[in-house]
Amino acid sequence: MIIILSADSSESEIKEIINILNTYDINIQRFDYREKSILIIFPDKNIKKDISFLNRNKSIEKIINTEKPYYLVTRKNKNKNSVITLNDINIGGDNLSLIAGPCSVESKNQIKEIAYFLKEQNVKILRGGIFKPRTSPYNFQGLGMKGLHYLKEASEETGLKIITEVLQTEEIENLKDIIDIYQIGTRNMYNYPLLKAVGRTDKPILLKRALSATIDEWLLAAEYIMLEGNPNIILCERGIRTFNNHMRNTLDISAIPYIKSISHLPIITDPSHATGNYKFVPSLSKASVAAGADGLMIEIHPRPDESISDSGQALSFSDFTKLKSMLIFLYKNINKK
Ligand code: PEP
Ligand code: MN
Repeated sequence: MIIILSADSSESEIKEIINILNTYDINIQRFDYREKSILIIFPDKNIKKDISFLNRNKSIEKIINTEKPYYLVTRKNKNKNSVITLNDINIGGDNLSLIAGPCSVESKNQIKEIAYFLKEQNVKILRGGIFKPRTSPYNFQGLGMKGLHYLKEASEETGLKIITEVLQTEEIENLKDIIDIYQIGTRNMYNYPLLKAVGRTDKPILLKRALSATIDEWLLAAEYIMLEGNPNIILCERGIRTFNNHMRNTLDISAIPYIKSISHLPIITDPSHATGNYKFVPSLSKASVAAGADGLMIEIHPRPDESISDSGQALSFSDFTKLKSMLIFLYKNINKK
């Protein structure tokens, strides 16, 4: 942090500010340049100290924040890439993780048909929403607990791991014995009580980026989870809202290398919700892998036209099979030493 003192501040006012700062256990360096004094502050790990009240001090012209407001999720805390493990499955590190499944669990037959297909494809993680956060209250809201039992059967029969979205804190307990990864959806990235609650569980969390979240806000949401004791976080870029309207959202590919440069957490993308259109899912999946993503979450359906939710973006089994081979090929070649 850099504090620029006003040109008319007196020596005693400057000393007073330094005295206040000294009570915060931070390192301060003072530079006097022409008529102004500048204080450079090195808070190290002391990011919890909020000294923004100094903005009100008449002797201060400007405070410039140079430090990131989070620490646990950064490479300063841990330089090595985090790898999230689920038995023999590794997410992050030297792996391309594929998560696939329907937008919503619609029936026992539907989820089993998809689970058996994914098993055959050697995809290890099955997605399927049971509590659906739909923009319109008139749209299908998910099968709820009935859907959970269908997911359980599909997982028991195929050995696939299950990820599903948790919408509210009270649902965490109900899902605990059945699912393997809790998904925090885009609408809930700012739901701090929910973030804290999943932070107190011992399961991995897939944290989607909110529709309009900056990278700092997204990483702060991850920091909330980690601060509660759960370090197993997978970030998921699923498209943000911009002035573009040619697709449902804008997949922020730039987030991938940037996040990788400052954070040790794995990052995957969700090109299905980003595009809203099955035709564009392959290109953005390939772009994600090329940009360094650790994996993808893709919506599929045995008969996309019949999908109750997000029908327009679901890949058919044959389209998914083709895309999967291409992504594996791309990943291997990009990472060739
Ligand atoms: C989903 O993955 O089912 C979903 C609702 O996604 P998002 O939170 O990204 O809209
Ligand atoms: Mn969906």
